[in-house]
Amino acid sequence: MLVFFFNPATHKIYPACQFHHLTGLNCPGCGMTRAAYALLHGEFLAALHDNALFVFALGALAIRGGWLGWNKLRGRANGGFFPAKSLWPLLVVALVFTVLRNLPDFAFLSP
Ligand SMILES: [Zn+2]
Repeated sequence: MLVFFFNPATHKIYPACQFHHLTGLNCPGCGMTRAAYALLHGEFLAALHDNALFVFALGALAIRGGWLGWNKLRGRANGGFFPAKSLWPLLVVALVFTVLRNLPDFAFLSP
C-alpha cells in the first residue's frame, strides 16, 4: 500500500539495498520496489526495466495461484504452492539474472 502512494525514485523512505551499498553491484532484488510502484501505476515496461525477474516472478506466482485455485474448484488434490523440486531451478534463474544484470552488455537489466 505504501508503495502505491510514495514513488521510490523520489521518496527516500524505503531501506536501501545493503548488497548494492557495500558492493556497488545489483542483487536480484534491486529495483524491485520501483518495479512494484511501476506495476501499480500500469507502467509495465518501466517495471520490466527496473526488475524483470520480479515482474516475471509475479506473473509465475499468479499463474501458479490460478492453477491451484482451478484444481481446488475441480476437487483435485494440490501439491504445495512451492514444490521443493522447483527451488533449485529458481535459485539458478536468480543467480543467472544477478550475474547478467551486472555485466555491461546486459545493462538493460539493471534498474
Ligand atoms: Zn539489491
